[in-house]
Amino acid sequence: MAKVRLEEIKRRFNNVTAIEDISFEIPDGEFWVLVGPSGCGKSTILRTIAGLETATSGKLFIGDRLMNNIPARQRDVAMVFQNYALYPHMTVAENIAFGLQMRKVDAKLIQERVATVARSLSLEHLLDRKPKQLSGGQQQRVALGRAIAREPQVFLLDEPLSNLDAQLRDDTRAELKQLHQELGITTVYVTHDQVEAMTLADKIVVLNRGRIQQIGEPQSIYAFPANQMVATFLGNPPMNILSAKYTNDGFDVGEQLIAVPEIIREKLQLRPGQNYDLGIRPEHISINEPQRRREHGEEEVGELVVEVKVVEPLGRETLIRASLPGSTVLLNVQLGGNVRVNVGDRLSLQLDLTQLFIFDSITGDRIF
Ligand code: ATP
Repeated sequence: MAKVRLEEIKRRFNNVTAIEDISFEIPDGEFWVLVGPSGCGKSTILRTIAGLETATSGKLFIGDRLMNNIPARQRDVAMVFQNYALYPHMTVAENIAFGLQMRKVDAKLIQERVATVARSLSLEHLLDRKPKQLSGGQQQRVALGRAIAREPQVFLLDEPLSNLDAQLRDDTRAELKQLHQELGITTVYVTHDQVEAMTLADKIVVLNRGRIQQIGEPQSIYAFPANQMVATFLGNPPMNILSAKYTNDGFDVGEQLIAVPEIIREKLQLRPGQNYDLGIRPEHISINEPQRRREHGEEEVGELVVEVKVVEPLGRETLIRASLPGSTVLLNVQLGGNVRVNVGDRLSLQLDLTQLFIFDSITGDRIF
């Protein structure tokens, strides 16, 4: 096991800056997930740690050792890719043993290691099969097994579940988490799937356009996103963003007004006529109940009249998309499973204003 430290890593490809100013330190044994939209630089960071890519500038340490000039095979890291490329002519056992054989590990030790790895990944009954006799999920487990068998200091995983179907992906994700708890190997995991990021990570690093947007524990990033990009990236359906103009009467969104909670008036120097982006998550919007308004008072409840455009009943919950008069925004709303709404209905919704986020409309930074 080893900590991994990046200091101001930058990578340019000709005139494209793929990543810039990337600094973080992963403590021994932690599971960190790099997330962000396509092209944000996740794989470039992972490949730089692996030694498959050379940083244009900056320093990389594994343990306390500077790795910039150390070739990939001497870094003691194991990388698993999305296309896990097993050796087709070898059995599962031979695939798992391959890295150890290359390193001339004692045959008896290899046998023991293969048995242990096979047990922890439930591959014992498959050891004599060839890759083409395995399902996708089984092949992926063998690829993981091949990486684990080497007992690397650091595990690097690049979208390892993206070739699996939904059910298998959920199962393998849970297995991966359990495996990490057992082995405690420092892990860096790349994905664009926010569910994988939220469920697997000790810490998430959110990237956009080659730069770090925020680093933190999943729940904390979800609750306190640094900016609009992070806020809308984590959460499904994503957080709603409404452009609003502040007036003395409230936030003006299209043709309707949302009350401004006292705490926001106190904390922010809001100026009439100024524009803000308001953020509210789908789970913090409900169908209007006058009773709540009486209990919580006017100022914590924002009311919006909308027209329902899409209804998605999912059993446990119902997702709707609704349009706001005078605005092109479609509002994502998460309602209970037994709610009956139809396309075309006009609904009065209430926003839980205790859960309101406010972003600077120019920089996108969260200001409340
Ligand atoms: P994805 O999720 O689509 O795999 P990513 O977040 O992993 O994307 P990277 O593959 O790290 O993104 O790429 C970051 C940026 O660097 C992109 O703009 C990409 O086009 C560019 N890039 C990556 N590798 C090269 C290369 N070998 N030559 C030129 N540009 C590259």
